[in-house]
Amino acid sequence: MKTKITQILILIVMTATIIASVPDKRRFPIDMKNFKWQTEQFGDCKILRYVVPGFDNLPLKQKEFIFYLSQAALAGRDITYDQNCRYNLLVRKTLEAVYLGYKGDRTTKEFRDFTTYLKKVWFNNGIHHHYSTDKMFPDFSKDYLAALLTGTDKKDLPLEKGQTIEKFIEEMTSVLYDPKIASKRVSQDATSDLVVNSGSNFYESVTQKEAEDFYSRMRSDAKKNKQDTLISFGLNSKLVKENGKVAEKVYKLNGMYSKAIEKIIFYLVKAKEFADNTQQAEAIDKLIEYYTTGNLKAWDDYNILWVKDLASSTDYVNGFIEVYGDPLAKKGTWEANVNFKNVEATKRTETISQNAQFFEDNSPVDPKFRKKVVKGVTAKVITVAQLGGDSDPATPIGINLPNAQWIRKEYGSKSVTLDNITYAYDQSSLGNGFIDEFAFSKEEIANAKQYGYLAGNLTTDLHECLGHGSGQMMKGVTGESLKNYHSTIEEARADLFALYYIMDQKLLELKLIPSLDVAKTEYDNFMRNGLMTQLVRIKPGKNLEEAHMRDRSLIAHWVYERGESRKIVERVTRDGKTYFKVNDYEGLRLLFGKLLAEIQRITSEGDLKAAGELVEKYGVNVDSELHKEVLERYKKLNIMPYGGFINPQFVLEVRADTVKDVSVNYPMDFTEQMLYYSKNYSFLPARSEK
Ligand SMILES: [Zn+2]
Repeated sequence: MKTKITQILILIVMTATIIASVPDKRRFPIDMKNFKWQTEQFGDCKILRYVVPGFDNLPLKQKEFIFYLSQAALAGRDITYDQNCRYNLLVRKTLEAVYLGYKGDRTTKEFRDFTTYLKKVWFNNGIHHHYSTDKMFPDFSKDYLAALLTGTDKKDLPLEKGQTIEKFIEEMTSVLYDPKIASKRVSQDATSDLVVNSGSNFYESVTQKEAEDFYSRMRSDAKKNKQDTLISFGLNSKLVKENGKVAEKVYKLNGMYSKAIEKIIFYLVKAKEFADNTQQAEAIDKLIEYYTTGNLKAWDDYNILWVKDLASSTDYVNGFIEVYGDPLAKKGTWEANVNFKNVEATKRTETISQNAQFFEDNSPVDPKFRKKVVKGVTAKVITVAQLGGDSDPATPIGINLPNAQWIRKEYGSKSVTLDNITYAYDQSSLGNGFIDEFAFSKEEIANAKQYGYLAGNLTTDLHECLGHGSGQMMKGVTGESLKNYHSTIEEARADLFALYYIMDQKLLELKLIPSLDVAKTEYDNFMRNGLMTQLVRIKPGKNLEEAHMRDRSLIAHWVYERGESRKIVERVTRDGKTYFKVNDYEGLRLLFGKLLAEIQRITSEGDLKAAGELVEKYGVNVDSELHKEVLERYKKLNIMPYGGFINPQFVLEVRADTVKDVSVNYPMDFTEQMLYYSKNYSFLPARSEK
């Protein structure tokens, strides 16, 4: 599970005493004063850079380890594109060929529109928006597309064998412009077939019912044959129909995506030599076995080894992980991350983890839904060295893995906060005017400036190290019971746990916060965001779709309604502008606790009906008047709601056949990096494997 950025980050004034996690300037290898955090913006995205403080001081062996892991993180990039939609690689390769080879005029507005569209495809790993999952349409005309394609050398374009350029233009025109072709990557409309209406590439010629039947049969067969019934059936495969029968195409060596997986394995084998310790090397071996065989039992075994390895400083994510891209929440999208521990900042999360049992025992949920023993909630703050696949260029800011509920229960989970990423967000948003526009009072603004960075990071920590790991399921209930509502309910559960506890005396006692003003800052921010400002990410006339956005809307609207008669949170209009003002923080906290109890009950009992009612009533709908106002106010600020990153680049310094060092540099140009990746790390054909 992952935490996405909760807010459009706000101006922070740093006070050294309370923020342990601000990267130490002395450890930066470069001139930070003149470091350019944001390089450009287009569409609704901005491109940021992040730094890797501390890398230069790592031992050479660890640097080499990070280098090879970073290569493994890049090697699967094409897989993510293809999983997101079967046309994505065809589109990307075509547009890149045009960008590199088009012989016509490059100074026109149309060519600029073309370039912007290509950048959006890179940013979103395909033709759908990564957040809304809506298909993105080009601003240039169909005629211009035809001109671009005829103005590019035919041999550079991914034409099918025997295909004429005319036929190719026809094909590309319908892929890019036809609203009926893959109009939505992940359909959330439960009134129609979720599988058939999703443009993602996890199912082909299969209906929702056929897919659901296939996997429930697989599970009951496993039960009958006394095989493992806990494995994540369907996680690493595409479901297709072959000769009228439903069958899986497994992602593995010599299976689907073999060419890319071969490279991932190649770099993992290299990386293994430099692992921090033998336990970690053993885990990498298991991961290699999994990629080689596609066996999900090996995946579970790997995750157990991975979650038990707490000694290593370097860590990574590499695999088919999150299931947000599948409307049935079974198929994992490929992603990667390479990182190492930020020792200083990790003290904060260690304190939280050490007290996990206290938080569980005192939570406002029914005791029968609490975990009797909270196991191994390990949390650390990390410095990211490489993003890959689904986490690149747009990345979550917190990650909690593994996802398999039974492993989490038996062995715990690892939870991380991506500190140098949140720091880059903060630095890039210095003084962008957002908080000043939407906060109700000067006091709120001052609090946000003083405590916002800490409040945001602490909420992420509590969400990841405690929230997701809390609570227990009743016998026979699995995460799948809540179907398409599962992700929203799960995120709401973790958010509520964090919101409830950030205002607890225990946090003062543990010296995690200097005063309850930190919690107040978070409450102001959460309500403002959930009721109003997150709407900047939504197009007029659209409803909320993404799980984290639905979760925040659900919570904010539910507590607002419950507290309305007592004015716990008040809607105020001033000079024609809407604000939300928290009057009673303690009252608000109790409402968060009440909703947490209900959401935990829904989760523990697998109460699909109650989940559906909550999400549909509070989490989906948008107040169109308020939405319009928010968009108008936001537009004036000229801030882009989505951020993505240019990765650092690692280079082996070889002299006389020996690696003497690994250097890191920070590229400035998003387009150059994307083209570099496509040139050096593209291992799959333009046309998706059938
Ligand atoms: Zn989460």
